[in-house]
Amino acid sequence: MDAKLLKGKPVAEAVYTRVSKQIGFLKEQGVFPKLSVILVGEDPASQVYVRRKGKACEKLGILSETIVLPADSSEQALVTKIEALNSDPKNHGILVQLPLPGHIDEDKIIRTVSPQKDVDCFHPQNVGLLVSGNPYMLPCTPAGIVEMLRFYKIETESKHVVVVGRSNIVGKPMLNLLLQKNKSANATVTIVHSRTKEISAHIRRADIVIAAIGQPNFIKKEQLKKGSVVIDVGINRMDADNEKGYTLVGDVDFDQVYETVSYITPVPGGVGPMTIAMLMQNTVTAAAVQNKILLLEE
Ligand code: NDP
Repeated sequence: MDAKLLKGKPVAEAVYTRVSKQIGFLKEQGVFPKLSVILVGEDPASQVYVRRKGKACEKLGILSETIVLPADSSEQALVTKIEALNSDPKNHGILVQLPLPGHIDEDKIIRTVSPQKDVDCFHPQNVGLLVSGNPYMLPCTPAGIVEMLRFYKIETESKHVVVVGRSNIVGKPMLNLLLQKNKSANATVTIVHSRTKEISAHIRRADIVIAAIGQPNFIKKEQLKKGSVVIDVGINRMDADNEKGYTLVGDVDFDQVYETVSYITPVPGGVGPMTIAMLMQNTVTAAAVQNKILLLEE
């Protein structure tokens, strides 16, 4: 039997509907949520991501500012910019687009963003809160995946989830989110990476596989349990004989596994739309918290 497709768009729309209501509520109280995005340099992929974030803000009525610094900006110039945004009460969220040029210390920059305004959930204080089970911000891509699973009524409680990849952006926060003690988590989680022995044996035991490695079509049919759920975070560009000259594929060999699994996210159009939707949610959450306003969840 063919798998059911877990499309991201309807889930993202549901998040936007919720966030729109929250924005309306904040505006009634004189709070106008604002996100500032800093881009250092002219990396084309980063420019695309930054533009998409600006468009999402515009669509929802979140104020947004994009600050572009030249690629050869000093680390201190970036720190000074972030500190100004930290102390601006009209600015609620700060996102520094990664990767940064090599001469800038990424960890230092992450630590410079005020934890209250850290809409990416990268600051060690926010990571610590997540790990200890009392999160303030939720990491965007992993939180988007939890939203998707909830939307499509796929339970994680008592399920065995295997996360493939241990990055600070996807793998590790995914693990921590699924370990939370609540109905949308409560999973048993295994995380595997490039130094894991017999990776296939782990993946084969999974009820839910979350792949975030950045290796095109890495996971194959024979590695998956029949009826398992596949969340493919990977976005890999492959040369193709089409107008664009490329096509996007995930970390899972979609065509091959389609008949084996029960649910699968397409690439593109699966997890992708969720990351920006959750960024919008974090910006609004940050605006509410900074103004001591309690938001309703729905
Ligand atoms: P990173 O490169 O930071 O991390 C990749 C992880 O995968 C590492 O932990 C690495 O292991 C592991 N890995 C790499 N190769 C293998 C292998 N052959 N076997 C087992 N593990 C392996 O990537 P990200 O987490 O940032 O991104 C992963 C993918 O997700 C990318 O395609 C990226 O474009 C996509 N992405 C999509 C987003 C979305 O919104 N949909 C958001 C963020 C990322 P080790 O640690 O041992 O090196």
